[in-house]
Amino acid sequence: MSECCICKKCLGVTGDEGQGFDVAKIRQDFPILNRRIHQDKPLAYLDNAATTQKPSVVVCALCDYYQICNANVHRSLHLLADEATQHFEEARRRVVKFIHAHSEREVIYTRGTTESINLAAYSWGRRHIQAGDEIILTEMEHHSNLVPWQILAKERNAVLRFIPVLEDGTLDLEAYRRLLNPKVKLVGVVHISNVLGTVNPIQEIIADAHRAGALVLVDGAQSVPHMPIDVQALDCDFLAFSGHKMMAPTGVGVLYGKESVLEIMDPFMGGGEMINKVTLEGSTWADLPLKFEAGTPHISGAIGLGAAVNYLMGIGMEQVEKYEQELTHYALQKLTPIPGLKIYGRAPERSGAISFILDDVHPHDLAQFVDQAGVAIRAGHMCAQPLMRKLGVPAVSRASLYIYNLPCEIDQLVDAILEAKEYFSHGS
Ligand code: PMP
Repeated sequence: MSECCICKKCLGVTGDEGQGFDVAKIRQDFPILNRRIHQDKPLAYLDNAATTQKPSVVVCALCDYYQICNANVHRSLHLLADEATQHFEEARRRVVKFIHAHSEREVIYTRGTTESINLAAYSWGRRHIQAGDEIILTEMEHHSNLVPWQILAKERNAVLRFIPVLEDGTLDLEAYRRLLNPKVKLVGVVHISNVLGTVNPIQEIIADAHRAGALVLVDGAQSVPHMPIDVQALDCDFLAFSGHKMMAPTGVGVLYGKESVLEIMDPFMGGGEMINKVTLEGSTWADLPLKFEAGTPHISGAIGLGAAVNYLMGIGMEQVEKYEQELTHYALQKLTPIPGLKIYGRAPERSGAISFILDDVHPHDLAQFVDQAGVAIRAGHMCAQPLMRKLGVPAVSRASLYIYNLPCEIDQLVDAILEAKEYFSHGS
């Protein structure tokens, strides 16, 4: 563990002493955070929007599955297969609880947000989108909530419309309301922007869409890991998210769908697991959710996701959100005064994904420079090229926070940015 993680300042910001939240203790569950890199600098991992670190309990859940009960799920009659199936389905039940879904029938395992959205676009879209229909997206979508709809719209001769992003990084909701009309069949919206950090008012967006007769798909890749989510209260029709951004392994994610919507969708992929009866002439489908889970699933991934959900629920998602809000506030306070540092996204409701550009330093150069100081941040177009175009930049650097980060790691980033400013101003 880096020496700072129990410093007075860090403990001060973590707050809530006596209420069971202890960031130093949480960090002990993530041995990777103890690493020292590049001439013994403490690692400050601030690339959590790309992927998060995994606590030991998640890694252990994977080991236990492979070492104790490795078998395929759902189809064998022996003990190991029964145990594997129980763990796999128990993990699904935990996800149901985590997002307040109505039942297991509404939680489909996928490879991640990207596959979840593709599933919805293909299975729901192909059946329900006709020529001339309209799909509303936003200008701040990640490519994974844009490209699948572009493919569908081209195939169906449908029209894509976009809610504009305003100067401060919020959505133009008046423009959104003007876009709504009876031809709109779906609204696809990111809950929290991976670039701007904006927390979109999805409850309002969903209610307006429903009044206009459209369904809503929420890209929850950057929200589900960071705040309490209640799909029944939100009343969204679909919610897509990735395990690896919430402490679970890569290659597993979820598509939540309302049962009534999933019931009248065709399968996404055909094969084993997703069928009921097969003849040479045709097949019938398995019940939900297996109808959408063709082939052998990512069993260990799902079990790991269950362990991650358990871990997060142990901390409490209200607590996760509260701590991250404090940390984000601290980060913005520290970063904003840096001369020449432009932060993109000033929405009043925002998350800990903070994108910026320093003077005329290329974001890749900045990310490489701060890496030498032990700080891991991301640089690039963040899979949001249309948004980059709107912002008038080819790329940004992005620091993104999670529950195990510390104020002193933000200080480490700030010091590294100041050093970079000095270094690059000399034209070296
Ligand atoms: N949507 C958003 C908002 C994201 O941040 C990401 C990941 N960066 C994705 C979708 C895609 O997630 P995945 O690569 O896990 O499918």
